[in-house]
Amino acid sequence: MSTALPSYEQAAAQVADFAARLRLTRPAVERVELAAAAGRVMARPLYADCDQPPFARSTRDGFACHAREASTHAALPVAGATRAGQPPDGPLPRGAAWEIMTGAPVPDGADAVMMIEHVECGGGTVRLLPQRKLEPGENIVARGAQARTGDELLPAGAAIGFGQIALAASCGYGALEVFVRPRVAILSTGDELVAIEAELRGGQIRNSNSPMLATMVAEAGGEPMVLPTAADSASALDESLARAAGADMLLITGGVSAGKFDLVEPALARAGARFHFTGVRIQPGKPLVFGERPRSGDAEGGRSTQPFFGLPGNPVSSAVTFLLFGAPVLAALGGRRDGGPRFALARLSAAPERRPRTGLTRFLPALCTFGTPVGVSPEVALVPWQGSGDLAALARSNCFLVLPDDDHQPLDAGAMVRILLS
Ligand code: AMP
Ligand code: MG
Repeated sequence: MSTALPSYEQAAAQVADFAARLRLTRPAVERVELAAAAGRVMARPLYADCDQPPFARSTRDGFACHAREASTHAALPVAGATRAGQPPDGPLPRGAAWEIMTGAPVPDGADAVMMIEHVECGGGTVRLLPQRKLEPGENIVARGAQARTGDELLPAGAAIGFGQIALAASCGYGALEVFVRPRVAILSTGDELVAIEAELRGGQIRNSNSPMLATMVAEAGGEPMVLPTAADSASALDESLARAAGADMLLITGGVSAGKFDLVEPALARAGARFHFTGVRIQPGKPLVFGERPRSGDAEGGRSTQPFFGLPGNPVSSAVTFLLFGAPVLAALGGRRDGGPRFALARLSAAPERRPRTGLTRFLPALCTFGTPVGVSPEVALVPWQGSGDLAALARSNCFLVLPDDDHQPLDAGAMVRILLS
C-alpha cells in the first residue's frame, strides 16, 4: 500500500509547485522601522539613492598618488591631507602625493593609494619603499563601483537579515515596506495531551508540539496562533477547525495515522478539504497530510483557500515534516522568493547501523560539528534515539541526517552525506 504514496522527491516537487502558485498572489504590505525589520520580507525592491560608494574611496591609510609616479620610488612632496568625512580641498598636482585616511574621498587626479606601511616619509615628502610596486586602482574603490544611483539592489521577496539592514541603512531607508506575516493556526490534537503546568496522570503527556511549532513558525517568518488543544472526537475537531478557518495556514498535529482515534482526515474532509497527498515515503513522518480548504473571513490577502498540513503527532515527525514541507509553503505565503528546506554536505563520523531496506527516505536527528579547521568538512554523527517521540534526542541534535531510500551501499565512516539543517 505504501508504494502508492509519493516519494520524498515527488512530495517535495508537489509542494514546490504549490508554493510557486502561491507566489502569484502578493500578501498585504505594512511599513516597519528598519530596526524592527529583521526576519521580515521586502515588499518592494530596494534602490540605491546615490552612487555607492558616493565618492572614490580610499580603502587604506596612506598616500593618494599617481601609481606610475610612485612606482619610480622618487620622493614625492605631500601636497595636502584628507580625512574620512571631508572632501579634498583640491586635485592632486602632478608629481605629488596626498595624505589620506581609510574611508576618505580620493582627490581628483589620483589613481592609487600607497599604504602607510609601504612608504617612508621625511621632510614633507613620501617615497614608496623600493621592494613595493603600485598598480593604478590599487586601494581605491571607484565611485559607483558597487552600485549606481537608481540601481535595484534587492528585489521584492528578499528575506531581511543583517546584511540587508546594513544595505538599507546605507541607502537612507529608515523604514521598509514589508509583507504582513502569514498567520498560522496551530492545533494539537489528542486525548492524552495536557497543559505544560499540569501534573501528569496515568497515560497523559504534555503538549510539546504547540510550543515547538510556534517557534518553528516564527523562525520561518509566520505569526503563530496557538489554538486550544482538541480532543480526539469529531465534534471537538469540527469546532477547532471552524475556529482556525480564518488563518492563512493551518498546522494540525496528531490524529493522522491509521489508528481508531485518528479522526483528523475525516474532519478536514467535512471542512471542505482537497487533499494533495495523504502520506509520503519518509521516516519519520510517513502519515503526513497536505491539502487546502476554503478559507473564511476577510480575504484581505486575496487568498480564498487555506493550505493545511496534518503533521504526525510524534514530535520528531512533526519537526521534520514542518521543515521539509510546511516551511516552504509558509515562506511562499509570506511573499518570499526562496525558502525551501536547506541541505548541506557533511562527513559521516561513524557508520550508521545497517537496517533492512524500508523504501523510505529517512531523516534522523544528528549533530553536526561545523567548527572544523580550514579545509576540513563539517562532521556529522547520529544522535542515539528511541524513535520519533524522543524529544531529548531532538534537543541534542542540530540537523537531520538524510538516508536515501535507494541506498544499496551501506554508508561507511568518512562518507559525504546530506544533512537537513534545522
Ligand atoms: P498520533 O499522531 O496522534 O497517533 O500521535 C503519535 C504520538 O505522538 C503519540 O505518542 C502521541 O501521544 C504523541 N503526540 C501527539 N500529539 C502530541 C503533542 N502535541 N505533543 C507531544 N506529543 C504528542
Ligand atoms: Mg493522537
